[in-house]
Amino acid sequence: MSALSATGRTGPANAAAGLQAARAVLSSLVRDVPDFPEPGVLFKDINPVLADPSAFSTVVDALAGIARAAGATTVTGIEARGFLLAAPVALATQARLVPIRKAGKLPGATAARTYDLEYGRATLEVQQDALRPGERVLLIDDVLATGGTAAAAAGLVSDAGAEVVGMAVLIELLFLKGRGRLPGLPVAALLEV
Ligand code: AMP
Repeated sequence: MSALSATGRTGPANAAAGLQAARAVLSSLVRDVPDFPEPGVLFKDINPVLADPSAFSTVVDALAGIARAAGATTVTGIEARGFLLAAPVALATQARLVPIRKAGKLPGATAARTYDLEYGRATLEVQQDALRPGERVLLIDDVLATGGTAAAAAGLVSDAGAEVVGMAVLIELLFLKGRGRLPGLPVAALLEV
């Protein structure tokens, strides 16, 4: 399936050009913040990308191309920065938007998955009636690090009987080998570092 490029034309060449443009934008604008939120972590701050409408469009176009190529009917944003990316992709591709949130934020009946962090544990939730069997779901987040968050999100989608068709992130931290926690799941990273 062809992807829509940043120029609005379709075709593999334009899709490749769109991915390259997104990589260039992320390389130049994402800010490295040492020792945040705790010592030893090099935090990838995407806010300069969000604050630049041209750069943000380039990145959203690339993510939308990935969603189209995967045949996604639904996109899930993982709290909180995943929301900022999944919402425009859902509109651009006319996919359903389903938020995956941290524990205790969603009203009504929810399904939950708990996973290990470096220190402690975290829980993600989705509303029980948000996903249905047969949906093709693309997970979206800003950074893939150890893969624990993505694995929990994928588990929630599978628990609901929907199909996880892939994970799209702006940045993959290769040294943390997050893909290893996502066997069989296609991961598209606009920038690998
Ligand atoms: P993980 O579960 O280890 O893959 O961590 C992924 C989640 O934590 C994503 O939702 C990211 O927003 C956040 N995260 C982890 N590491 C970083 C980092 N170095 N910079 C920015 N966000 C990060």
